[in-house]
Amino acid sequence: MQIGKTKVALVALDFIGYYQNGGYYGVDQVKKMLKLELGLTDVIVASTHNHEGPDTIGLWAPANKDGKYADYLKWVDRRIAEAISKAAEPANMAEVRARFGATNPERSPSLKGLQVRTTHRPPFFFDEELRAMQLTRTNGKVLATLINWNTHPESLESRNQEITSDFPHFVREAVEKKYGGTAVYFSGDIGGVEIIGDAESRTGLEYEEINGKRFPLTAGHRPNVSFERTQTIGEAVATAVFQALDAGSNERVDVLTLKSQPVRAPVTNPGFKAMIQAGVLSNYGADKEHPEVNTTIWHLRVGPADIITLPGEVFPELIYGVEQHKRTDCPAANTGRPYEPAVLPLLKGKYHFILGLTPDELGYVVPGYDFSAGPGGARVTDACKDPKVPNHYHETNSSSDQMAPAITCGFVKLLGGDPAKYEACK
Ligand SMILES: [Zn+2]
Repeated sequence: MQIGKTKVALVALDFIGYYQNGGYYGVDQVKKMLKLELGLTDVIVASTHNHEGPDTIGLWAPANKDGKYADYLKWVDRRIAEAISKAAEPANMAEVRARFGATNPERSPSLKGLQVRTTHRPPFFFDEELRAMQLTRTNGKVLATLINWNTHPESLESRNQEITSDFPHFVREAVEKKYGGTAVYFSGDIGGVEIIGDAESRTGLEYEEINGKRFPLTAGHRPNVSFERTQTIGEAVATAVFQALDAGSNERVDVLTLKSQPVRAPVTNPGFKAMIQAGVLSNYGADKEHPEVNTTIWHLRVGPADIITLPGEVFPELIYGVEQHKRTDCPAANTGRPYEPAVLPLLKGKYHFILGLTPDELGYVVPGYDFSAGPGGARVTDACKDPKVPNHYHETNSSSDQMAPAITCGFVKLLGGDPAKYEACK
């Protein structure tokens, strides 16, 4: 996207995560391959968090061994640079009109029930909004459709051994079939949020209903995963994209601005520290004794829309407001840490987009009041453990218990608020 001298590349990768600085790979390496003549102000790379691609992090290997293949990741960097170069070439840039839209399960019933919380971790709260931005050439041909929705794209679950981009593939396929052009899918605030069936079914039904089709559950109330089911999920999401754009509005886009803010926090997860010391995770600074999360958050203004980026899997209540959307089932589980400031009210645009896992995958970002990790980073049993409340899994996949205030207070600063007004930011 370009207006005047500001020119930004937005990239979505079908990976579990990627990094700004992964040492020998990552966005910093991509940038070195981009010609200056392209005039890019910045390059913003997101991952969908697809669980069925090659290992881009290194964790899927025997303990403290690296599951990554350097040659493959260097090839990925080259492919990203090629794609950006092609798109950003003056001959491929086109004047466009922009249409924006948003919907939710109420207005688009095909989305109903698709989002669940991991094994029903409370609160049962999601970012239910599906958002779309469509860019159309002046000759009426659609150039691109940007789609933004908020759940883990892992409908094929852990036993699938085929490389696939999961349901976002079928969303993009349906959107491109209807409109032409290129569809790009971004996952948003997906912390603790899974796709239907990923948490065990609690409906008591023998089947799941997805986009009007019935899929029988196994005897253990697990989904019968299949590509047919995944396609149905993708088509359900695509239906909502159509509805969002149908009900959306053509908007004048005469401004494109870009601001960023560094985010830092000490790595507090002993498991992550061990992987950093073993050289598997290289994106946490040079000091292996005191590794640090060192990442960036961005705010883009695109006409009437705000785009913000999140460096990991951020729990949606951190965006919408922890105080209003916190769990209320278990006061005993409350750590007493102050509620982080809500990010969404700081956005003033008519539309907003949230790009998760951008530029880094730093794990789950869990609100402080409910962040419980045991000795050595072990999984903690919830203070109100009963069959309905799972133990604290997400903390075991979180870089730092300081990430939630670091990110939300970073946005307060980035978006012109006063961090001193918030207890969590002190
Ligand atoms: Zn995840």
